[in-house]
Amino acid sequence: MTVARIWRERGRRYRLEAARCKGCGKVFFPGRLVCDKCGSREFEEIRLSDKGKILTYTVIRVPPPAHTYETPYAVAIVELEGGGRITAMVADCDPEKLEIGQNVRVVFRKISQDGEKGIKFYGYKVVPA
Ligand SMILES: [Zn+2]
Repeated sequence: MTVARIWRERGRRYRLEAARCKGCGKVFFPGRLVCDKCGSREFEEIRLSDKGKILTYTVIRVPPPAHTYETPYAVAIVELEGGGRITAMVADCDPEKLEIGQNVRVVFRKISQDGEKGIKFYGYKVVPA
């Protein structure tokens, strides 16, 4: 991942900035130009809640190449309070013991690192609440 991309995506990556449609109230994360529900192009910027529930999750046993995550780990789709969904790694848990509907909270953690002394990338993960 490039530094330029991290800068460009900083609002979304670090502040959970999302867009709420002014026409129908649907929340998009990341934001988009046209609402797929009502066709409106008017959005207001909101911050997503850091609390939510697991909608579904999958346990990853074989990590993608170049990643050094300890396996197994879980990736969940989380429905946040007040609207908005994020896909995030679930940290601080036994991935075999997660449940659909479980309460989680969004935290900021190191996601990856370029080599031992390389750039560290931070982003959001969720942990059991
Ligand atoms: Zn809409």
